[in-house]
Amino acid sequence: MTGQPQADCLFCKIVAGEVPATVVRETETTVAFRDINPQAPTHVLVIPKAHHPDAASLAAAEPRVLADVLAEAGRVAEDEKIDRTGYRVVFNTGAGAGQTVFHAHAHVLGGRGLNWPPG
Ligand code: C5P
Repeated sequence: MTGQPQADCLFCKIVAGEVPATVVRETETTVAFRDINPQAPTHVLVIPKAHHPDAASLAAAEPRVLADVLAEAGRVAEDEKIDRTGYRVVFNTGAGAGQTVFHAHAHVLGGRGLNWPPG
């Protein structure tokens, strides 16, 4: 069920403190933590605490929480000082786009040049 913790969801376990993560920010509705396999000098994931499988389902069910996720992505960029040089916020959506964890998450990437189009 969307919104409820899922026993087999890695990011629900991070929210619950059952799987360790390097948390850099937390709000009532979101957690931001460093990606375990960083693709840039700054690579932070911002997730809703509630379980939603992807950004589109989060937008449909809890649009204010999606706004919280995006606001936190901006605050991460400020904290990391990548707002000065440019950064990217990415929601991989669906396996074909590289989504491997089916709990909505924004990748915040910066600290190096970022090519367009992405691979
Ligand atoms: O968009 P995608 O679903 O592929 O992103 C999942 C991300 O979660 C990956 O970048 C992966 O490195 C990260 N991850 C993590 N900590 C874990 C497991 C995965 O940061 N324990």
